[in-house]
Amino acid sequence: MWFSSTPAAPRRCSLTSSCDDAEDVGANPAGILREQSATPASPAATLAMSTKDNLPEDHRLANKPVPFRTMRWSNLFIPTLRDAPADAEAVSHKLLVQGGFIRQLHAGHYSLLPLGFRVHEKVAAVVRSEMDAIGAQEFRLPAMHPAAIWKKSGRWDVMGDEMFRLIDRKGAETALGMTHEEIFTDLALEITSYKALPQIWYQIQTKFRDEPRPKSGLLRVREFDMKDSYSFDIDDAGLDINFDRHHDAYVRIFDRLSLPAMPVQASSGAMGGSGSIEFMVPSPAGEDDVVRCAACGYAANVERATSALPPIPDRDIAELTKFPTPGVRTIAALAKAEGGAGAVHQIKTMVMVLDDAITLALVRGDHQLNVQKLQDHTGAIDIRPATPEETVEHLGASPGSLGPVQVDGIRIIADPSLEGRSGLATGANEDDWHWSGVDIARDINVTEFADLREVRAGESCSNCGEKLEIVRCIEAGHIFKLGTKYSEVLGAHVLDPDGEKRHLVMGSYGIGIGRGMAAAAETHHDDNGLIWPVSIAPYEAVITIVSLKDEASVTAGEALYNELQQRGIDVILDDRDARAGVKFADAELIGIPYRVTIGPKALVDGEVEFTPRATGETSRVGIDAIVDQIVAEITTAR
Ligand SMILES: [Zn+2]
Repeated sequence: MWFSSTPAAPRRCSLTSSCDDAEDVGANPAGILREQSATPASPAATLAMSTKDNLPEDHRLANKPVPFRTMRWSNLFIPTLRDAPADAEAVSHKLLVQGGFIRQLHAGHYSLLPLGFRVHEKVAAVVRSEMDAIGAQEFRLPAMHPAAIWKKSGRWDVMGDEMFRLIDRKGAETALGMTHEEIFTDLALEITSYKALPQIWYQIQTKFRDEPRPKSGLLRVREFDMKDSYSFDIDDAGLDINFDRHHDAYVRIFDRLSLPAMPVQASSGAMGGSGSIEFMVPSPAGEDDVVRCAACGYAANVERATSALPPIPDRDIAELTKFPTPGVRTIAALAKAEGGAGAVHQIKTMVMVLDDAITLALVRGDHQLNVQKLQDHTGAIDIRPATPEETVEHLGASPGSLGPVQVDGIRIIADPSLEGRSGLATGANEDDWHWSGVDIARDINVTEFADLREVRAGESCSNCGEKLEIVRCIEAGHIFKLGTKYSEVLGAHVLDPDGEKRHLVMGSYGIGIGRGMAAAAETHHDDNGLIWPVSIAPYEAVITIVSLKDEASVTAGEALYNELQQRGIDVILDDRDARAGVKFADAELIGIPYRVTIGPKALVDGEVEFTPRATGETSRVGIDAIVDQIVAEITTAR
């Protein structure tokens, strides 16, 4: 394990405030007590200790376990709070702050405190080991990029306000990277022969995103660590293999993180490319809606999802007629108005501005436009609803009386649910007037039909006809087939066996480390706090000494602590001079998976108490058996 304790490692000594520990080691575990009351070494003495020549003989031999003062609660910085922050809504936000894992510096930027960093690094270690297992090679690229390379790829504009940009003292434009397609592709220019392919490259590195509304603790931030990887192949078949490899690696990663992540079809957004799968963790704190069919397993982001609609029999109104609708401004009002029509017989007209061009997006009266679908279909970079002024300028009326009938010279994109329909009602582009008897083919210059509508819960699955549900989710990972989008614009190509120039076929794959940590907190908690999965818990086990006044308890606690460390368990000794209730509450709040409680009464019987955090059920275990039991449980759970 990446983070498990390595008791014999001498380098840790320089992290402690005193090297006296070493002389207490092994022979007399209880001697640690003396260390706690000892005067800490001066900074200068510590510095001197940190040079190899000055180390005591024991350290150079390095075979004896060195107890780490850093794993004694009394010496650690674990600032747990009595109450969760008042402004926090997401459970992970509350518990990570309350448990002393994170602190906000400013909106969207968090400091990871020691506990938080331990969890973060354990998540990173799981991701790293699974990336290494598929043959990915680790890099570390700069966070600050020159504007030129982003301009070359065309994304300097695409990224809009999301990208942090700054100008250096020489006047050069730079940006803080949100992702690294451009930078990795630039490195791939050095691949010249097909023989070097395939390659999978990755890094775990800090990204920046100028999020307009940072919130929910680590879930929506402006600065975050991400694992991003990139595959380079000679052809689509190779990309398919590496995409599937990543898919499988992600399934293993989320399994090891105990995250119930489901792969779902997704929009490619600003990344471009064809295939796109998100790994979604159901959670009320999420920001994505996933459409899911329990019967056949269909799952897609609402930005991409489709459903089967029952046909609507058209009303038998053949003649296009304008009728007065004083004060009618909504679909619901038109449904009730004299001469009006039910929502399924209305056209809803959304006036949008796509890269400065007025565009009408049409959906059925009872449907909602999904803007991401419109963006994916058109490839528009900047997309927004028209202002009332723009609407009046282009259509001659205010919102509420708008429609596409007899509109010329404006791009009109209609949802397929309107194709072939007739007998419809819609606004007449004249305040207080509507049309009835609208025939789509006859009366509207539809430029193109495209899936624009947002699927609703309860609609029928396109695959199997069963009812669809919508689940709120956290996006924990995302894998894309990029194709040659970046290699073409940046000139990354190789010569194939026939000496022909071929652009590299790329994939791009991301997992947010802090977000994975937050998703685990969202998924694993109860009223008393966090319940970390063993694989990413800040410590795997805590030994709680109930009474420091009881010498036998202290001796037993120290001995157990040393033994568990030697067995490779990531253990913390709660040696604080505090009430037992406080210690129990803190251990539960920060979510350590296993607690061993050493109390004077049980100890008289040669026993300790063992409490898994997940069940909260305490059992008595013989002090001779407890180490084997913990090692067995934790080894299995890792
Ligand atoms: Zn289905």
